[in-house]
This record gives sequence, C-alpha cells and structure tokens, in this order.
Amino acid sequence: MRSTRPDHGAKMSKIEHPLTLPATGTKDSFVVRGVRILDEGPLVDLHVEEGRIGQIMPGTATPDAMLVALPGFVDLHTHLREPGAENAETVATGTRAAAAGGYTDVFPMANTQPVTDSVLRVEQLRARSRGADSRVHPIAAATYGLAGKALVDVVSLRNAGVTVFSDDGHCLSSDGLVYDLLSLLAEHGGVFAQHAQSASIVRDGVINAEVARDAGCQGWPGVGEEAIVARDIAIARATGGRLHVCHVSTRRTVELIRWAKSVGAPVTAEVTPHHLLLSDRDAVRRGTALKVNPPLRSREDIVALRSALLDGTIDLVATDHAPHPAEKKSLPWAAAAFGMTSIETALPIVADVFTVDGRVDWHGVARVMSSEPARVGGIADVQQACLAVGSSATFSVVQAGTPWVVQPSALFSKSDNTPFGGYEFRNRVVLTVLEGKVTHSHKVWDAGLG
Ligand SMILES: [Zn+2]
Repeated sequence: MRSTRPDHGAKMSKIEHPLTLPATGTKDSFVVRGVRILDEGPLVDLHVEEGRIGQIMPGTATPDAMLVALPGFVDLHTHLREPGAENAETVATGTRAAAAGGYTDVFPMANTQPVTDSVLRVEQLRARSRGADSRVHPIAAATYGLAGKALVDVVSLRNAGVTVFSDDGHCLSSDGLVYDLLSLLAEHGGVFAQHAQSASIVRDGVINAEVARDAGCQGWPGVGEEAIVARDIAIARATGGRLHVCHVSTRRTVELIRWAKSVGAPVTAEVTPHHLLLSDRDAVRRGTALKVNPPLRSREDIVALRSALLDGTIDLVATDHAPHPAEKKSLPWAAAAFGMTSIETALPIVADVFTVDGRVDWHGVARVMSSEPARVGGIADVQQACLAVGSSATFSVVQAGTPWVVQPSALFSKSDNTPFGGYEFRNRVVLTVLEGKVTHSHKVWDAGLG
C-alpha cells in the first residue's frame, strides 16, 4: 500500500537517518535515536517494541539537526474522496499523504459518492480503511444525502461509534434541523461540525468580498459565515448539544466564539493552515489555485486567527485537505473547484505560528494538532498522546529549524493542488509511527533544498 517516490534534490548532503532498524530485530522492534520529546530535556532513544514504547533511554546519537518527537497528529477535517472521486484521492493515497504530514488519525468528511449517511456506509468505509497508513474515523453526514431535508439516524450511528456529524461542503441551513440535531447530541453524545455559509448571503461568491472587485468575480462576505455561527452558538447554548465550527476564517467569527466560550456554551472551533498563512490578496495575485471555501481573508483576519489559536479561543488546526484533479482547478474563478491539498504541509505552518523569539512552543503545536482534535473527535482514549513508556508507539518526529522547500512532485497526495509549491519552511516531518508501524520515513534529507 505504501508508495515511494524518488527523492528529488540531487544536490543533497546526506545525513544519517535517526531510525536504525537493528539487524537482528524484527520489524516490530526498532529504536529512534537522538530525539527530544516535545523539546524537553536531554536527547533520548525511543525503543519501540511490539507497538508500544518499550523504553526511553539516554540518547546514543547526536544528529546534526534537532529532532523533536510529538504525539501523532489528528486531522478532524479531511477529504479522502473515496468512494466516488478516486481520480482525486483514495483512502490509500490520502492516508499515505496524512502519514507524510505526521498524522496518525484522520476524520474523513461524509461528502463522498455515495454520501456516508448510514451505519452501512460507515462500516464500508471502515472496511476500505483497514491497513491504511492512518486510522480512519468516518464522519457521518448530518442529513441524508447532504440534502438538508432530514436528519440521519443519529442514535444508530452513535451506537456504531460515530463521534462527528457534518454536512461539510454544504451548510446545514435549517434552524429547526440544527436544533433537532444538537438536541439529539445533547442526549446521546457526539459533536456537530458545521460548515457555516449562509446560502442567501454568499450566493455565488468565490473570493473574499473585500477584493472581489479587483479579482473581477463574485464576493463571499465574512458575514455569510458569522451569521450562521452566531445562530448555531445560540442553539448549542440552548440545547447543550456540542457544536464545532469548521474552518473559521474571519476575526468577527473569532469574537463570536470567544463570547460563546465566556458564557460556557459547548462550542469548539478549528482553523486551517491556509487561513493562517495566505491572504485574499494572495488569491487575487495567484488565481484559482488559491480558491477555497471559505475564502482566504485579509491580513487583519489572519492576525486574529493566529492569536485566537495561540490563546485557545480556536481549539485546533484541521487541514480541510481537499484534493482535486488539475482540470478542475485550472478554470476561471467562477467555475474552478474550491479547495487545496494541505495535509502534508500543515506542521511547518503551525510551528511557525507557535514560534516566539526563534523558539517553537512544541507543547502548543501538540495541543492544537494532536490532543485537542483527539478530544473534540472523541478518540482521546485511542490516540494516547502521551509518549511515555508503555503507551502506544504512535508519534511523529520533526526535524526542527532546518529550511526545506516544498516540491509538489514529491508529495504523496494523488492530486497536485497544493498552494505551497516552492515555499520554504523551517520544520519538517521526517518520521511517522502508528502503533509501532513506520508509516512515513524521510530516508535522507538535506540541509538546504528539501
Ligand atoms: Zn467546509
């Protein structure tokens, strides 16, 4: 299942990989040498034995680069495209890309063909995902066929272990259905993840309204998001059902969430890597490669999103990894598909947000990429983000502080619609381990071009 691609930089100065498979060992038993756990204390060797961290010993190697071990990342918002759009992504390629990004758990959205809107469809997706390079936790649709007309069988899906419900790709517009769904979740557990987009405000908008004139296309105003978020917060507060706001994009949505938390409403929120880095002006300049829903916003919004992530108002980072074949992206603004691939490049963007005075707060990174998404997604018991002796060997290792350049041809997603080709980042996932199995290993890396 694991595919390999050639390493592209020909001018690499090779550094010995920290992963050493002992000649006499089994593939279930190996040592990761010379890492720091969450940037703390001395170098250690992580001994992986039969799927668990067997021992943590004093480090016996001093790699040239700083290597930081983090708990495996959890993506609460992924599009794997299977079934129905396997030309864009499959469970195999999407989870392979996830592993390359340091992820060990992904929550695929339900907007596949057919839609994941029944226990049968959930079980089918779980069966397809057996042996994949990350654990797959299917999200169930909130309404049948994402049609916004009738709620799915929430109780049966909860009994089948579904933790997240979402019509993502579509907004659940009906006040009454949001009320009924959150009332059911208050009683039976689980969380509703809303794609907040007022159809009657946004209409055919494709780019931030503030730059729509410059781009010559229809504007998507921030209030189209904020109006839905405000309503949903009111309903979550009244019913006690848990609301999770997908891909927050505006500073005023941040204000609403801050208020919701201040009054104890059961509300959590996510932000994507691209909304933390790219602006509406970038979208005007670079075109439909940067067409995404909700759209990229202003510099002021980016600043607000970053500080909300740092102070916990926004709980977590989710990628909204949205693969599309090239022919769907290279179209005029009105016709091109929304979305970009992002799961392989999330870590360096988040690490940059958590960098203060040249130092990365790796605890903060682990909080927003691992423990918080695991908690909101209801898999904290599975994911065990503790990196202690006896816990599941489920972690990633980041090469910290060394520049590398994103080469789209070296990415593992089946689609090439990354907006970050040619970007130089400073932190890179070089190893991912899931329950003791190596799901990604960057065999050699260089000190300059990545
Ligand atoms: Zn969405």
